[in-house]
Amino acid sequence: MSAGELVALVCCDLGAIVRGRSVLASELGEQLDTGVSWVPANLSLTPCGSLAEPNPFGSVGDLRLLPDPDTHTRVEGDQGSGPLELMLCDIVEIDGQPWECCPRRFLRDALSELGSLGVRLTASFEHEFQLLRDAPPAPAFSLEAQRRAEPFPAQVMGALVEAGAHPERIFAEYAPHQFEIPVRPARGLASADRSVVLKEVVREIARRQGLAASFTPLLDPAEAGNGVHVHISLLDDAEESLLYDASRPACLSELGERFAAGILLHAPALSALTAPSPISAARLRPHRWSVGALALASQNREALLRIPPVLRLAHEDAAAQLHLEYRGADAAANPYLALGAIVRAGLDGVHRELPAPPILERDPAGLDEAGAARYRVGQWPASLEDSLQALAEDESVRGWLGELLYEAYVGVKRAELRAVAELDLSEACRRYAAIY
Ligand code: GLU
Ligand code: MG
Repeated sequence: MSAGELVALVCCDLGAIVRGRSVLASELGEQLDTGVSWVPANLSLTPCGSLAEPNPFGSVGDLRLLPDPDTHTRVEGDQGSGPLELMLCDIVEIDGQPWECCPRRFLRDALSELGSLGVRLTASFEHEFQLLRDAPPAPAFSLEAQRRAEPFPAQVMGALVEAGAHPERIFAEYAPHQFEIPVRPARGLASADRSVVLKEVVREIARRQGLAASFTPLLDPAEAGNGVHVHISLLDDAEESLLYDASRPACLSELGERFAAGILLHAPALSALTAPSPISAARLRPHRWSVGALALASQNREALLRIPPVLRLAHEDAAAQLHLEYRGADAAANPYLALGAIVRAGLDGVHRELPAPPILERDPAGLDEAGAARYRVGQWPASLEDSLQALAEDESVRGWLGELLYEAYVGVKRAELRAVAELDLSEACRRYAAIY
């Protein structure tokens, strides 16, 4: 270890920016129990750079960023840069009690409520991103597109393995210079940790090669966007699927139907947490294979909730594969808040014993009024303003956040809206490409 080697003790904030403080690697042991100092108002920093005003914190108060040793991540350096080493932290009070606005705590609480029903969750955040390059792109999904980006694809996969992020594949996606790296599912909190680590590692490896990688929700309004699809499995104590029931439509169990119905019920408010930038709604339009409508679908990429196919090749276990995919998230979302809110919404559907949503096996844009009513198809909010309005009106979702976190969150989002108010969509997209 060289004398100046650093370990970053970081958290992911309301705008999904990773912030924190670095300590000397040689002194990490001393910081593990007490963490590093943090300030409540840091949660009101906006992705655009400024502090949201007004914010509920002001200049008062002290907190700690307390590292979670399970998240220790290291990617070796190269000739130009030192290793990327970090630990993700909980934000706690100075006596070690959880802070009411800590996003990791929000997810942990949602998972423990799920756990009280005997349900465990595994999830995987499927990220898309683009390399910001001027060169003409090679065809979508082509080997040529991947090879032109070498050595980036191979090196980023190696770095993700080193970081413990368990990448499964890499491929060129549909939009120019767009890639996707699905990762293996992980247990609840660890799945969101993995999403945070993946983005930092991808940007790091791109930077080392003189490139810039952006996870922005939408780089060019004329092209496909960069989605985050959250794949969710529910398991019992014996790790058996609670979502699979071969006797029911699309093999989705009654618990799964209710869970899906709860997500659909709260989807307009959830959108403020899962696709929360001023440009996010422009990605979530019909015929972009993102979210054409609020509906549950089987193998249909225009619905908010999709049941991906169960493979019957070889001896694949059908029950273990069946899961729900939430397609309405992007990288401007804090993954802990997003997943926590999805879980709470699903739980609400279970508690209320909501009826099964119809399964939409066709393009929602082609439905007439009667068809839309039959499939109970709803609309995704058209703008961040509409999402915030839906959040304000959904007392359940607001209640899950708690007053202080809600106020801080809305303050950040309103500040972002003000920051881009004078920009047209393309300019706003350029601004966000530089942030994410
Ligand atoms: N790029 C699409 C999105 O914005 C997703 C395409 C796909 O992987 O199905 O969500
Ligand atoms: Mg994709």
